[in-house]
Amino acid sequence: TRAAVPYGQGRGRGLGADVLGVHGVEMDNLVALGLPVVPGLTVPIGSGSGLENRETANTAIDLLEKLAVRGIWPATRTERRPMLMHLRCSAPVPVSALPPAISVIGLSNRNIDALVEVIGRDRDIYDSWAANLRFVAEGALGVDVDDLDDLDDDHPDSRARVPALLDLIEETTGAPYPADPAEQLGLAAKAMLARWASPRGQRARKALSLPDDLGIALHVRALRLGSWNESGYGSAISRDLETGKYAPHGVFHLGVRRTDPNPGPGEPLGQVPGGVTILDQIFATLEPHLRGVAEVEFEVRDRQLALLSAGALEHPGPRAVTHLAVDLANDHSIERSEAVRMLEPDLMQDLLHAQLKLSGNEELLAQGLPASPGAAIGEIALSSERALQVAGQGKDVVLVASETSPADVPALLAATAVVTSNGGLASHAAVVARGAGRPAVCGATSLRIDLTARTVTANGVTMSEGDVVSVNGRTGDIYAGAVMIRPAEPSPELEVLLGWADEIRELGIRTNADNAEDAATAFRLGAEGIGLCRTEHQFMGDQLPLVQRLVLAESEAEEIEAIAALTTAQQSDFTDLLRVVGNRPITVRLLDAPLHEFLPADGQYRDAAQAERAAATHESNPMLGLRGVRFAMVQQRLYPAQAEALFRAWVTVNAEGLSPVLEVMIPLVSLPGELSKAITQVDSAAAAVATDTGVKVPYLVGSMVETPRAALLAASLTADAEFLSFGTNDLTQLTYGFSRDDVEKTMLAHYLDHGLLTDSPFAVLDRDGVGALVTMAAERARGSRPTVKLGVCGEHGGDPESISFLNSIGLDYVSCSPRRVPVARLAAAHATL
Ligand code: PEP
Ligand code: MG
Repeated sequence: TRAAVPYGQGRGRGLGADVLGVHGVEMDNLVALGLPVVPGLTVPIGSGSGLENRETANTAIDLLEKLAVRGIWPATRTERRPMLMHLRCSAPVPVSALPPAISVIGLSNRNIDALVEVIGRDRDIYDSWAANLRFVAEGALGVDVDDLDDLDDDHPDSRARVPALLDLIEETTGAPYPADPAEQLGLAAKAMLARWASPRGQRARKALSLPDDLGIALHVRALRLGSWNESGYGSAISRDLETGKYAPHGVFHLGVRRTDPNPGPGEPLGQVPGGVTILDQIFATLEPHLRGVAEVEFEVRDRQLALLSAGALEHPGPRAVTHLAVDLANDHSIERSEAVRMLEPDLMQDLLHAQLKLSGNEELLAQGLPASPGAAIGEIALSSERALQVAGQGKDVVLVASETSPADVPALLAATAVVTSNGGLASHAAVVARGAGRPAVCGATSLRIDLTARTVTANGVTMSEGDVVSVNGRTGDIYAGAVMIRPAEPSPELEVLLGWADEIRELGIRTNADNAEDAATAFRLGAEGIGLCRTEHQFMGDQLPLVQRLVLAESEAEEIEAIAALTTAQQSDFTDLLRVVGNRPITVRLLDAPLHEFLPADGQYRDAAQAERAAATHESNPMLGLRGVRFAMVQQRLYPAQAEALFRAWVTVNAEGLSPVLEVMIPLVSLPGELSKAITQVDSAAAAVATDTGVKVPYLVGSMVETPRAALLAASLTADAEFLSFGTNDLTQLTYGFSRDDVEKTMLAHYLDHGLLTDSPFAVLDRDGVGALVTMAAERARGSRPTVKLGVCGEHGGDPESISFLNSIGLDYVSCSPRRVPVARLAAAHATL
């Protein structure tokens, strides 16, 4: 067995947590930082039972008395400054289920009266004494638990319980409870080790997946006694967790430390005898050391403060972490890069969105996929019409539907949140809600929507249209009734931290935005440009009939008319958007949408011929159908018209002094021939605009890489394409052959449960498959055109884990929905650290 090691001396002897336990190391660290710690010593792991030997225990007590410059009454040396002992334990790793501490070791009938006189109050010391006796009687002396329970019941007052306990112990063991402090220490050690070895202790280790033979170190510290008014103990933390500001606060208890885990409200810190300045100094030292919000337990004896323990608070929340990181860097305690590293992108997300303040009494209606973060409450509306009507009355409304389509966009934007019973993370509702910053829960499959009764039912609760629900888009929870909401509070500190992240990151951050409003939001949040403007989104809502006319045109004349109307509408949208874009880059993707999304949802056609035309466009697999560049190959007027609208808009804003950097992008390419033909269409539009306006509009042309074939042929595509943008939504869909709209509904949960997948591949980029295709395509593209610009515009562009991978393969930028821009900025910085 090893000898006891005083707090603060283990490090010099090269001892770590494997010998001293985490608490022994913690105390060493505090001493090394020059902080006052309570006198104490560690009996190393494996040596605790040595204390059962009286001589060893006496040696430890002598050492402790020297450290504390006090003696255990009735020791002769320092009778006016008595002490007792306190025993706790720790393992080599943090363990939440350790045996409880044992206090007031050394107390006996020989010294109790004298001690009560010093302290000036007896109640607390008797409480601690009774707890100590009970623990030791049960753990080390074999006293029956039922007898102990009966005794507790018979004597609620600890002043009566202590003599009864002493009698019971003597009755059971045939010997009086020892008054000798060394013998008491040996018994306490035995009881603690017995608890650790008990089936209860074993179960706790098993539950925490810790080895069964994990040892514990015992820590004996001086419990220095002083007068009631000048002594006590407390706990404090360094920051206000709501605001994150430095603001030490906590509680302080006058008197002796009790073993009671809930010692009552206590006094504010201001009442600490001797003042709180010393706590301030302790926090100033600890926070930079811990890189965390500091949490301390301390005691005050005769106005002297000493630490009993200190550590970083677990899960202090994003506000506190942000504020702390910025404070520490501003104090030059840490580098800015370290400050950036302290805030996890996933955690930061919570600062950017409203959150539900749950009390625990909410009624959970249903759960679905967390499709778009944030929280909102509102009246249930089961149709777009109803949602628009309720929103029009100025009320908050939650759109609840089985799925949404482009026709629902105005309602989606008017709603405070959207809930769908079907559909996954890449479904229409999810993508639109994320883009617009509306909370969304999708695939809440337990919701039964009854459009006749106008009700939704789930979890045994039926709610009617007009009833209020609360939606948590971060967790996927939907609650019946109104829950309190804490609004998003991006703080000035967050701005500072994100500015530092920008200095560090190598990856560019753009946004997916289709209109001026979303673009403005994204630029405010730090986006450097637009990486994807989905032009079909400009045709949703009011402008839907324009596309319908084109798709259903029965004659060339009708087609030309439809195209003209479309061009006019689009030119005005582009002009608004380019004004916001200013001199930044913008990637405009020409139309890409499965045709059926544009057809009238109600199946109402003008005449039989039109209905026939619609039927003819029907596809079994619309996602694999006449989409993107394929439609432009068949309907050759569309892309030139869109490109012309874009170029004319550029001419307009250029006359106002702006020069947006145009990148025209062709979607869903799988043949190099499709790309070159589409580029010819775009070039012809540019030539026409140049002839008409006299302005030669500068632009780049590029291709999306959304099909495995496009990835494989990246070298050929870059013969024409000046940039490539990986559309990892479709690329994931087509690489796996998983339908992006259905997979979460039908099989994802099963795959996750059975360990076939660890995440939805539509949320976190699949490195091995899709990632390998992207890596290979990037290499081939750069091989054929070294200056090629490479980006990602799928949903993965806003996911921290995916960003880390995309950074590692050297892409130029990622593009994500506006609200995720800050997360992407931070994640991109983390990726380089
Ligand atoms: C993609 O497929 O990744 C993409 C960005 O395009 P969309 O989501 O519009 O299909
Ligand atoms: Mg796509």
